[in-house]
Amino acid sequence: MTDSQQEFLSSIDEIYDMHTHIFPGKIAEKAVASIGKFYDLTMHEKGTAEELVARGKAARVSKFLVCSTATTGAQVNAINDFVSKECSIYPEFLGFGSLHPDYEKIDGPGSIAKEVDRMISLGLRGIKLHPDFQHFDIDAPEAYSIYEVAEGKLPLLIHMGDNRYDYSKPFRLANILKTFPKLTVIAAHLGGYSCWDEVKALGNYLGHPNIYIDTCSAIQFLPKEESVNIIRAHGVDKVFWGTDFPMWSHETELERFLSLGLTEEENRKILSDNAKKFFNK
Ligand SMILES: [Zn+2]
Repeated sequence: MTDSQQEFLSSIDEIYDMHTHIFPGKIAEKAVASIGKFYDLTMHEKGTAEELVARGKAARVSKFLVCSTATTGAQVNAINDFVSKECSIYPEFLGFGSLHPDYEKIDGPGSIAKEVDRMISLGLRGIKLHPDFQHFDIDAPEAYSIYEVAEGKLPLLIHMGDNRYDYSKPFRLANILKTFPKLTVIAAHLGGYSCWDEVKALGNYLGHPNIYIDTCSAIQFLPKEESVNIIRAHGVDKVFWGTDFPMWSHETELERFLSLGLTEEENRKILSDNAKKFFNK
């Protein structure tokens, strides 16, 4: 990183990493290895909360949106307990819980609504969905009870896109928004990892006001001008920076982001101001 980049970063009081994953210490290594295999990547970190805070702080990042995914309905309670516990240990964390469309099959009708209330009482700030790991089409009717409850209550962070799978294609989010126009969604990976033509064709999700995008696991796969075009077309006020930890390191991701050539004002919004506004900080 250049001296002027370092200087710029140190002028920001709080840098928010808006997309990170944490895993319980015991299973962290195994979980991270299996994600590495899924994406055919060498994972950079182990994926524990302790490591996230240490690595982030070394790169001047001080706040972290953390989440963990329940791959079955049966894991939902335990994952939400885990994320909220880590948030009580680390004041730097803003926790997003997990839900699964199969959850009501286990706990009965109405249990998603009850779990969302429990998540709020646990201090969780949103809901993370990773449809490619959870194996459901985001616009399938079985997922609608999640959106029904979330709308107006909690924002969603949804893993978006991957041209190898169909679960989280950008057009499916556009479908959801027709039924749930007040839903607040962070559409991860610039709105659709590796489905860039679809992202561009949909524009900023049809002008929907409550859709945000993040930069993680996206800007390294696109020419810089294309990332910049997507960010500006979406609107710089609704873009967050993130690392997808433990996928990538803070240092590298900051460097990559700053090298896009956005203005200082745009960088400041994406690294800090937009997140502060989002969380009313
Ligand atoms: Zn994620």
